[in-house]
Amino acid sequence: MSGYRGRFAPSPTGRLHLGSLVAALGSWLFARAAGGQWLLRIEDLDHDREVPGAAQDILATLAAFGMQSDGPVIVQSERIERYAAALRELQDGGHAYACWCSRSDLEPHAGIHPATCVATPTARTPAWRLRVGGAVIGFDDAICGAQRQDLARAVGDFVVWRADGVCAYQLAVIVDDAAQGITDVVRGADLLDSTPRQILLQQMLGLPRPRHAHLPLVLDAQGGKLGKQDAACPVDAGDPLPALRAALRHLGQIVPPADSVDALLEQAVRGFDIHRIPASSAGDHVAAHNASR
Ligand code: GLU
Repeated sequence: MSGYRGRFAPSPTGRLHLGSLVAALGSWLFARAAGGQWLLRIEDLDHDREVPGAAQDILATLAAFGMQSDGPVIVQSERIERYAAALRELQDGGHAYACWCSRSDLEPHAGIHPATCVATPTARTPAWRLRVGGAVIGFDDAICGAQRQDLARAVGDFVVWRADGVCAYQLAVIVDDAAQGITDVVRGADLLDSTPRQILLQQMLGLPRPRHAHLPLVLDAQGGKLGKQDAACPVDAGDPLPALRAALRHLGQIVPPADSVDALLEQAVRGFDIHRIPASSAGDHVAAHNASR
C-alpha cells in the first residue's frame, strides 16, 4: 500500500448520474493506480438540498459499480462539533468575523464582500466570514495545470459559517480531508475555483495541503453542468457496464473489452493514463457551494 489516500464526497441531493459517476470513478482510478486507498464521505450539511434516501442509494449504486470505501464512511451531519472547533480556532486567531450583511447589502459591491460588515448588527445570529486579506494562492492542478487566485478580487471575505447555523462547505471539506488523511483531492472542475479558499483555510488552521486534480465536467445538451438535483438520467445500478464505459470515455481512457464490472475496473486501472484526461476550465460551471458569499 502506498501512502496515497483519495476520496469521493457526494452531497445526497439525488441519485448518482453520469457526472457524479465520473467524479467517483476518476478519484477511484487515481487511488487504485497509485496503490492507495479510496474513502467515502457523505456531505449532508445542506438540509434544504438533501433528498431523503439519496445517501444510501448513492452508496448502494457505487457498490454495484464495484467501488467501496476502504474505511468507515464519514457523514458530515454527525461531525458538527469538529467544524465548530475549527471555527473557534479561526475566531481566536482573528481570522473570522461576524457579519450581518444580506445579499442586498452586497449588491453595490458586485457580490464581492467589502471586507468589513456593512450592515447594522441585530439580534439575529450572524454569519462568520474569513478575512482573506491580500492572500494570493497558487497551486498546480494535475489536470488543469498552474492556477492562481487573488482571493480579495475573486471571492472576497467568504462565509465559513452560515447565518442559519450551518457550517459552510469550504470549512467542512478541509476539516474532513484532514481528518481522513486525504493526500489527493480528485473531483469535478466546478470546484477548481473553491480550491484557493480551501488552501487558505488549511494554512490558517495548520492543516496539510493535499494535491489536486480537477476532472472534466459532464455537460447537458444546453452546456450546463449535469446535476443530481436535475434528476438528470441517474445511472442504472442494475446494468453498470454501459455507464462505466461512458465514464471511462469521458475521462479520455481506452475502454477495455471486458464484460464484467470487476474485469473492466481491473483493466482500467492497469491502463490508467492521467495524461489522456482532457483538461476543462470550469468557466461558467462553478459549483453551488461557491455562492456562499
Ligand atoms: N460534496 C461536493 C459535491 O457533491 C463535493 C465536494 C468535494 O469533492 O470537495 O459537489
